[in-house]
Amino acid sequence: MTSIIGHSKQRRELSELVRSDRLPSALVFSGLHGIGKNLVAREIARQLLCEQREAAPQGGCGTCRTCTLFESSTHPDLLTLTFSGEHGASVDDIRAALEKMSLKPFMGGKKVAILNDADEISIVGANIILKSLEEPRPDTYFILVLSNPSRLPATILSRCQRFFFDRLSTEEIREIINLRGIQEISEALLLLADGSAASLDSLQARSEMWEDVRAVVERAWLGDQAIVARAAQEWGADKNQIKERLTFLRTTIRQQLLATSTDSNATAVWATALQNALDAEYLILDRHVNPTLTIFKTLQSCHRALSITYQLTPRQHPTVGELLMDGR
Ligand SMILES: [Zn+2]
Repeated sequence: MTSIIGHSKQRRELSELVRSDRLPSALVFSGLHGIGKNLVAREIARQLLCEQREAAPQGGCGTCRTCTLFESSTHPDLLTLTFSGEHGASVDDIRAALEKMSLKPFMGGKKVAILNDADEISIVGANIILKSLEEPRPDTYFILVLSNPSRLPATILSRCQRFFFDRLSTEEIREIINLRGIQEISEALLLLADGSAASLDSLQARSEMWEDVRAVVERAWLGDQAIVARAAQEWGADKNQIKERLTFLRTTIRQQLLATSTDSNATAVWATALQNALDAEYLILDRHVNPTLTIFKTLQSCHRALSITYQLTPRQHPTVGELLMDGR
């Protein structure tokens, strides 16, 4: 089993619930993308399916028949669906999976379905799953893994017990890097990864893009309108990479905010900009609002001159605490 870094509190709690047979049948694991929620879901699933679950350590004994099947990804009572990407689960896939979930467990124990990126499920798909959550069969468990619970229909969310997973600490990210045998990593990259191992991977693969985003944000801070307009134009037109650019934009602004926490003028600007960056992601990716214009407005709000405006109307922007509590 892949070793899991971090989330020890949640893992202990979940494992204890399995041991005492009190685990709710529908769970939502939410938190930033790429911090290991799916690994925890698999750990819990393995313990649920383990023949010695009540005595076994976190993640199951690792040696019994079902643990062995689990490791070889052939356990008949474990179902995994992933909703993101081009080959995300279709409505037919969901129906087929639920059909299997409604059968008696093959191995005589429990049945577990892990639904990855469940916040990208279609409305039709969500309604089909809702039925299974409303009338859960005994000994079946659904674990919905996602980063944005507000995208999930409230009818589903209300039937699930929610576990929140925090971003990884810089120390934990370092541990992951060590495990992977990577020797050199820049401090800037570590900071920008912002507690997500997946972002770190994407940052490493796209160092040019994030350097570009950082440079533009720096120019925006100085009020360079020409650069801001050109970047908005370019980024908005590049549909394939817009999601990544928006992530980099949000992360860069968040780092600026954290770095200027002692300067209240700068904090006011970066806090507003961060809120705008979060809104921009929602508006562009979920609501399909004109990307160029939205990015332009967001970058414009990074201008240091705005601190005067914010001081005149101090409560129009959210506080840093409110933004960081938001957890995204
Ligand atoms: Zn076992």
